[in-house]
Amino acid sequence: MLPKPVLEQAQRELIDWQGRGFSVMEVSHRSDAFLEIVEQSEQRLRQLMDIPEHYKIALMQGGATAQFSIVPMNLFSSRKQADYIETGIWSSKAISHGQKLGQINVAASSKKENFTLIPSFTTWQLQTDADYVHYTPNETIHGVEFPFVPDTGDVPLVADFSSSILSQPIDVTQFGVIYAGAQKNIGPSGITLIIIREDLLERVAPEIPEVFTYKTFIKEHSLLNTPPTFAWYLANLTFKWLQDEGGIEEMAKRNQRKSEKLYAAIDASDLYHNPVNPNCRSRMNVPFTIADEALNELFLQQAEEVGLVALRGHRSVGGMRASLYNAMPEAGVDALIAFMHEFEQRNSIT
Ligand SMILES: *Cc1c(COP(=O)(O)O)cnc(C)c1O
Repeated sequence: MLPKPVLEQAQRELIDWQGRGFSVMEVSHRSDAFLEIVEQSEQRLRQLMDIPEHYKIALMQGGATAQFSIVPMNLFSSRKQADYIETGIWSSKAISHGQKLGQINVAASSKKENFTLIPSFTTWQLQTDADYVHYTPNETIHGVEFPFVPDTGDVPLVADFSSSILSQPIDVTQFGVIYAGAQKNIGPSGITLIIIREDLLERVAPEIPEVFTYKTFIKEHSLLNTPPTFAWYLANLTFKWLQDEGGIEEMAKRNQRKSEKLYAAIDASDLYHNPVNPNCRSRMNVPFTIADEALNELFLQQAEEVGLVALRGHRSVGGMRASLYNAMPEAGVDALIAFMHEFEQRNSIT
């Protein structure tokens, strides 16, 4: 979901942007009008996430998936070795894309446990001379979230925050690189946010193409070429909305409340089940199954009839998944819980 006030403002301004007589989609990305968005969005994001000066911000294209290759291209030394933590489909993809470019050591994995837990940090087989450690703080499809930030010492920590960026305060200085596709918790698809510690910009090997080089993007203020300007404009409005709503701390409180309610409803029922270890259940993505799988389609169909949509689980895991990103109001969660309860009563065997 996107915040309603953001969509409403975009609608009001679609044809006549702030009285200029044209749309934001019609201006040059190098015009003064657009440069205002460039500057404002960076300031807002720095304020929201408390990003220190020695961390640089870039917006790129290609989604988080492109970062699965862009990260190694930029951070590999001549040895080309990195540690990865495998906790679900997205980190598995990051591993397989990385393997094309260098040597990936899977330092810990929960694959055997069907990605229902986070491997205890004490069991991780980290290399002290790895170029970086990569992990996925929130596994969107399996609904598993790290309850801690791993301490990797001098080895830079790289995190795919696509589905949990801006959902709770984090200490940016614990990370070397943070990246996130915009379409889960920032705005529409089309842009990918990168936050990178300045010294890491120097690592990139000379043969890496310019369009994939962090250093070039930072130098050009992400205007190396034409960016997705409308997506950027909407992201800027979302940052403003987050500030108006009380910032990330307020979002964290709401996200905690929303997810706790839904897990409590699932755990209290005989029909629904969530397989994830309670200490690492995601606050953003809540997958659940129905005891009688034959009821899945009926559940989805009847949910849709009352306006509860986008609940189908990812094709790789099946079942249902409720995504509770920042813009999902608490009333949306309440409506889902009420529907689940009614559905269970209508379909109980006893
Ligand atoms: C959605 C998602 C991706 C893929 O994002 P694209 O922008 O489609 O490439 C990668 N990682 C995580 C954690 C995601 O949630």
